[in-house]
Amino acid sequence: MDLTWSAEEESFRQEARAWLRAHVPGSPLPSGDTRAGFAAHLEWERALFEAGWSVVSWPKRFGGRDASLWEWLIFEEEYYRAGAPQRVTQNGIFLLAPTIFEFGTAEQQERILPRMAAAQDLWAQGWSEPGAGSDLAAITSRAVRDEEAGGWRLSGHKTWTTRGAFCTHLFGLFRTDPGAERHRGLTYFLVDLRGPGVEVRGFERLDGDEGFAEVFLDGAFVPDRDVLGEINRGWSVAMATTGSERGLTLRSPGRFVTAADRLAGLARSRGAPGGLAERVTQSWIEARAYQLFTLEQVTAVVAGRSPAARSSLNKLYWSELDVRLHETAMELLGGDGEADGPWSRGFEFSLAGPIYAGTNEIQRNIIAERLLGLPRA
Ligand SMILES: Cc1cc2nc3c(=O)[nH]c(=O)nc-3n(C[C@H](O)[C@H](O)[C@H](O)COP(=O)(O)OP(=O)(O)OC[C@H]3O[C@@H](n4cnc5c(N)ncnc54)[C@H](O)[C@@H]3O)c2cc1C
Repeated sequence: MDLTWSAEEESFRQEARAWLRAHVPGSPLPSGDTRAGFAAHLEWERALFEAGWSVVSWPKRFGGRDASLWEWLIFEEEYYRAGAPQRVTQNGIFLLAPTIFEFGTAEQQERILPRMAAAQDLWAQGWSEPGAGSDLAAITSRAVRDEEAGGWRLSGHKTWTTRGAFCTHLFGLFRTDPGAERHRGLTYFLVDLRGPGVEVRGFERLDGDEGFAEVFLDGAFVPDRDVLGEINRGWSVAMATTGSERGLTLRSPGRFVTAADRLAGLARSRGAPGGLAERVTQSWIEARAYQLFTLEQVTAVVAGRSPAARSSLNKLYWSELDVRLHETAMELLGGDGEADGPWSRGFEFSLAGPIYAGTNEIQRNIIAERLLGLPRA
């Protein structure tokens, strides 16, 4: 693993830093999980796109700047360092896009990716159902062939779709062969949420933001061109998406390194009595360790090795680090801590980390069985 940056990478960093310094909004935008906040974030996303920073590692013809994975990591570091707004397009650009690069046809890539990069189409993730969370293969939403219309009719009920109430599209798994073994009869569909037969109902999170939606489908039509991968082979396509969510793309180390630096700043300004100074230091070390782990992983990916089950290690690590880091911040703030500020909101959201992207119990099962070779749970 080579830990030195080239002159080109350094100049990429300087260019990103200068642009962000000049353009990141001076005061934080309202939460992207509220309708007004989402709209404000879209303006930001479009400004990023116009300047060529929305999807740096994508090919230029899809709206990117052909940056390497290393440069993408650098951009992420600078992005968090600059305190730039959360990416409300994340489920499209970080989860669906890598899957479209891997499984999509040339036509799908040309049609879908530029609109995603420009924040024109906004993608929500449609895995979970009321009776299927950790056990994703238990989904019952189905798709029935409509030969005459040249596509599929989707019915069922998806839930917990992050920012689904504000999105235009959903990617998700649907059962296309009810008779098959439960992992085999599934297909990955790209669904326009604005068509007939689709009802999207937003609902509030504990913190009051309307961050989630339920999606009800009743004969919603999806043309053949919006099937991603092969019919009845959706499970492996979906696993590629979850690999991105748990692994490299959703939570890059820049997020935690910046949070740990902010935590150290908080400790310096308020003092860190008792064992708190040690916990601050521990969080800082853990954030750096995650950064090094990611650099190792990128080295492997660049050399052509897939992270596969190792992405569960990322997910476990960053989600537990995030909880510890925010718990320490809340203790530093003590009784006079902010009631509704960035640390307390960050703390509340960190508690969801061990649940979304596949719960940590499930990640431990995957690590035990696939990386350590232990018997199945
Ligand atoms: C902030 C947030 C955002 C989300 N966004 C989305 C989204 O955009 N799209 C989407 O589709 N879903 C989304 N989800 C849903 C998320 O994927 C599910 O909550 C998660 O997969 C767990 O499913 P469940 O809630 O049904 O819990 P369950 O699967 O019912 O699990 C309940 C408990 O049992 C444990 N458990 C279950 N099975 C096992 C096992 N085999 N071994 C050990 N323990 C087990 C779990 O770890 C958990 O602690 C989101 C969730 C959160 C919190």
